[in-house]
Amino acid sequence: MTERFVVVGAGTMGLGIAYVAAGAGYGVELVELDQARGAAAVERLTGLWERAVQRGKLTAEQAATNRARVTLRAGLAEVAEAPEVIVEAVPERLDLKRSVLAQAEALRPMLLGSNTSSIAIADLAADLARPERFCGLHFFNPVWAMALLEVVVGPATAATTTEAAVALAGRLGKDPVVVRDMPGFATSRLGVNLGLEAIRMVADGVASPADIDKAMVLGYRHPVGPLELTDLVGLDVRLDIARTLQAAYGDRFAPPPLLLEMVAQGRLGKKSGQGFYRWTDGVRSGGTDLPGGAR
Ligand code: NAD
Repeated sequence: MTERFVVVGAGTMGLGIAYVAAGAGYGVELVELDQARGAAAVERLTGLWERAVQRGKLTAEQAATNRARVTLRAGLAEVAEAPEVIVEAVPERLDLKRSVLAQAEALRPMLLGSNTSSIAIADLAADLARPERFCGLHFFNPVWAMALLEVVVGPATAATTTEAAVALAGRLGKDPVVVRDMPGFATSRLGVNLGLEAIRMVADGVASPADIDKAMVLGYRHPVGPLELTDLVGLDVRLDIARTLQAAYGDRFAPPPLLLEMVAQGRLGKKSGQGFYRWTDGVRSGGTDLPGGAR
C-alpha cells in the first residue's frame, strides 16, 4: 500500500515539500484552504515536472507517475486517518500553526512535523496530546534544490521521532542537521539577522540592493545576496520570522521600518512580482524604486 504524506498549506514551501515527497514515492495529499492557491500549486508542480523531463532528469513516465501521486484536499477534514507523515507549512503564526497541528494530530500520523522557520517547537506543541511524535522539519526554499533539512528536537520529542525524521530526510534526498529547540534554530537566527541588517543598509543609503547583494556574493561567496534571498523567501514571511525572533531575543531582531512599509504595500518579493527587485515570470528582471527614497 502506498504510504501517505500529508502537506498542509500549498504555498511556496508546501508545494516544494509535495514535490520531493511525491518523487520519493509517497502518496501526497496537499491540503489548501484557498482554492485558487491550491489550483495554482498543482499547476506549478505540473510545470516543475515538465521541466524535469525537458532537462532529462526524469522520463515522461516518471513525471506522470509523480504528478498522479499528488491529490489536492480542501481541508484536513478530507484526509483519512493514520498517514505516515503530516507536515504543516502554513504561515508563520503561532495561533494558526497550533490550531492546524491540533487538527493534524487528531488524524494520528506516525510523524508530525512543522516547517516553522523560527517558532520554538515547545510552543507549537503546547496543546498536543502526543508531543513525543512531533518535531520541527525545516525545509529550505526551493525544496527540490536545497539539500538541508533542519530537524528540530522539542523537549517532548521522542528519540524514535528524531530517528524517523532523520530517516525521512534520507528518503527525500535531504541532508539533515539535528538542532536543539531555540527560536530561529541554527539557520533562521543567523540568516534573518543578515537579511534585516541588509535592509537597514538599504534604508541608510549604503549601496543599492544589487550592490549589497553583489558584495556578499563576490566578497563572501554567498550563492545569493541577502536582499535577493529576502525576495525569494517572501518579505511577509521574513517579517513574521523577525517578529518571532524579536519576541525571543529582543530588539536586535526588530523589523526595519522599510520592511514594514514594503509589506504594507504588498511588495512581497518574487511571489508578488516586486520586492527589492522586479520579478517577471519568476525571473529577476531588474531593480525597482524603493519607498521613502531608499536606494
Ligand atoms: P505561503 O504564504 O507561501 O503559504 C502558506 C499557505 O498556507 C497559503 O497558501 C495559505 O493559503 C495556506 N493556509 C493557511 N492556513 C491554512 C490552513 N488552515 N489549512 C491549509 N492551508 C492553509 O508561506 P510559505 O512561504 O510556504 O511558508 C510556510 C511556512 O514555511 C512558514 O512557517 C514559513 O516560516 C516556513 N518557511 C518558509 C520558507 C520560505 O522561503 N518561504 C523557508 C523555510 C520555511
